[in-house]
Amino acid sequence: MMAQYLALKEQAGDCLLFYRMGDFFELFFDDAKTAAGVLDIALTTRGEHGGEPVPMCGVPVHAAESYLARLIKGGCRVAIAEQTETPDEAKARAKREGSPVSKALVARDIVRFVTAGTLTEEALLEPRRANMLAAIAPVRGSVGIAAVDISTGRMELEECEEGALGAVLARIGASEVIAPEDAAFPLDDAIHRDGREFASEAGAKRLRTIHGVATLDGFGHFTRAMLAAAGGLIAYLDHVGRGALPLLLPPVVRDGAGALAMDAATRASLEILEAHGGGRKGSLIAVIDRCVTGAGARQLAEDLAAPLTNRTAIGERLALVGWLHAAPLLREELRTALKSLPDVGRALGRVVAGRGSPRDLGQLRDGLDMARRVHDRLGAENDRPALLDALLPDLAGHGALVDLFGRALVPSPPTERAKGGFIAEGYDHALDDLRQTSGNARRAIAALEAKYRDETGIGSLKIKHNGVLGYFIEVPAKHGDALMAPDSGFTHRQTLANAVRFNSLGLHEEASRIAEAGAHALAAEEAHFEELVGEAIASREAIARTAAALARIDVAAGAAERAAEGGWARPEIVDAPSLAIEGGRHPVVEAALSASGERFVANDCGLAHDDRLWLVGGPNMGGKSTFLRQNALIVLLAQAGSFVPADAAKIGLVDRLFSRVGAADNLARGRSTFMVEMVETAAILSQATERSFVILDEVGRGTSTYDGLALAWAVVEAVHDTIRCRCLFATHYHELSLMADRCDALSLHYVRAREWKGDLVLLHEVAEGSADRSYGLAVAKLAGVPAPVVKRARAVLDKLEKGRAETGGIAAGLGDLPLFAAAAEAEEEQCDTLRESLRALDIDALSPRDALEKLYELKREV
Ligand code: ADP
Repeated sequence: MMAQYLALKEQAGDCLLFYRMGDFFELFFDDAKTAAGVLDIALTTRGEHGGEPVPMCGVPVHAAESYLARLIKGGCRVAIAEQTETPDEAKARAKREGSPVSKALVARDIVRFVTAGTLTEEALLEPRRANMLAAIAPVRGSVGIAAVDISTGRMELEECEEGALGAVLARIGASEVIAPEDAAFPLDDAIHRDGREFASEAGAKRLRTIHGVATLDGFGHFTRAMLAAAGGLIAYLDHVGRGALPLLLPPVVRDGAGALAMDAATRASLEILEAHGGGRKGSLIAVIDRCVTGAGARQLAEDLAAPLTNRTAIGERLALVGWLHAAPLLREELRTALKSLPDVGRALGRVVAGRGSPRDLGQLRDGLDMARRVHDRLGAENDRPALLDALLPDLAGHGALVDLFGRALVPSPPTERAKGGFIAEGYDHALDDLRQTSGNARRAIAALEAKYRDETGIGSLKIKHNGVLGYFIEVPAKHGDALMAPDSGFTHRQTLANAVRFNSLGLHEEASRIAEAGAHALAAEEAHFEELVGEAIASREAIARTAAALARIDVAAGAAERAAEGGWARPEIVDAPSLAIEGGRHPVVEAALSASGERFVANDCGLAHDDRLWLVGGPNMGGKSTFLRQNALIVLLAQAGSFVPADAAKIGLVDRLFSRVGAADNLARGRSTFMVEMVETAAILSQATERSFVILDEVGRGTSTYDGLALAWAVVEAVHDTIRCRCLFATHYHELSLMADRCDALSLHYVRAREWKGDLVLLHEVAEGSADRSYGLAVAKLAGVPAPVVKRARAVLDKLEKGRAETGGIAAGLGDLPLFAAAAEAEEEQCDTLRESLRALDIDALSPRDALEKLYELKREV
């Protein structure tokens, strides 16, 4: 057994090996230690290996799913080794092979690997989150990416530059990433696989075979890098499924240019799908999601992760939301209906992967039937928006399948298929007959009981059934002897402390009839199951389209519901790079405040080409960050096709969205935080375009005052003069207000506060102009700093401010700084001269001495 275990462990590699032993999966050695730790279960030992006791732990097979879920969450991967023959078969095999039968070992094999990215089980998946698996294939400077949600089969291929990979992976949010082990750059959390598996030719061939096409052209144009990534992905799926491939829908090319670009830092800072602490609570999606189906919630997450940049497409989504917004009764009816919709996409995923249950087939039946009703209901409405008209055909067309499944399956089929009982009466007459036979036999057995009671005169005689003996006759111990006589017609089977059990010819006959009919019935049900699965597989693409259309409708109805609930407005999307928001709110902060009975103060924002950069000052806790983020979130929601938390919004299409927050406390968090902040800021300066929207919150804060001010100054200048994008910049550096004079498209704003009877009142109102003072001491008082300390600080501050008035303060001299553009121009001029001189050189005609001379000359020019 140890040899068998070690051979399987070798195949399992770095996955934990679940080794099936009867009713348990056992883990040994380091696997046992890891699993016992993660699962918090007892670690014991069993036997010895190399003179040492072998650590062991185990989980019962019937509860394995919940343990698996915890292991996967804990970052483990698991290989499942099942017994592939029964002990009897093992003995028979031993006999054939001439080895000792008593030591026969049942054969075991790894039947599948369970990994975070390849789950299909309902119990292991979160209903409202997609579960993505991604493979990357670097090909000369660019990278192919294949991403698939195994639970629904949705597959997307794309290609990006190496530098953009981080942003793409942040958007996909895969639970597992596969990369070739010989990749030119390291990818920390990736699972590395043999580089030969990432071959574009093989990838293309696999895709053609899977989809039964001669060419992939019908699906889109795929680059070599994309196909290489697809090849790696499919090879990995082959490996984890031991050759059984899950549902893969035809691949779709994702065009990076079609989506609002956001890098990982922006996503994290805006807390779109996850809040800072990790988890959904406190994130944007948590407060806006009103979807009534898991598939809708998954689609919403995808919409928020990749908002659109195409005005027509955004307009179509908004029109559908608007239509449902204007029809509260229809919306209510629709949402009530969708509430009972099963997760069609995931049920299909399990069925195609060969892990479907009768219940999954029932879900397909009910879901597709619901789709038809939604189709008929919405189709009867007038003035349908274009997107709805485009979706309607995808909802219909499953009539034959629904009819077949309706006739074939019982109303609520069980999750377990081995016991049968899921094929409806009337579907198969032979099956009905078999069931009738066992029904008759069961009745006959009941009649036998009455007859035997009569004949023996034992009123407490019973016919019972258990798993070991099958049917038997039982009488209390005191009556046992009466039936023992050889001519009684009863044969003794078992004597217990207070009962004796018997068999009889009549009982035996009826029991065999039941067993035989039962076995035949099971076989018949099994065959029907396979047929039905085959039918579902044959329509898999159409079923997946139906599921997607229902999800899209749920998202729109949920968005309309949310908008109605919060008094949100339909944004107007325009081309001009402006941003005009009236009465904007931060949905997450607003929700948090209203939970504690407080009111959110709405604020306007008006950026335009000639007023595109707002410096936002004011006291700490005054609402600067909130204001910045609410505007970024409004843009994001609008381009995702949702209404927005504002009274009105006119939004010029944004191509890239950036959000940066300065490191709060450099000393506490270490120097590297500041480095990260600067690297992220540098990314904005190199990637933002005139059509981008940038929010910068206290950038430069994480360093000394002078460094910080200098950096903030330079960044504002670069954004204003060179990038020329829309930008909100929150800062507590008063000195930056000097920039208003020199930057014509920059204006000053501040969050208002008032001191009232010595207390600070934060009004959370954004006003034009510059904050008159910093209120730092008032904030300190608000925060509970003891009064004597605040008083002492006030004295120090007075002194400092006096000094500042005399010397001009830390901003002294900034007024004379040449303009950013002017400085850049001077440098550019110098380059031109250098270029000229170099161009004029005839290097071949120079002597070494002249060359050296020339080099000195050039150096002087710099
Ligand atoms: P700052 O960035 O200026 O330090 P924040 O934006 O972090 O301030 O806001 C601090 C707190 O003030 C928030 O957590 C919220 O409770 C409250 N707040 C912010 N903006 C508003 C607003 N517009 N209306 C009501 N309360 C607000």
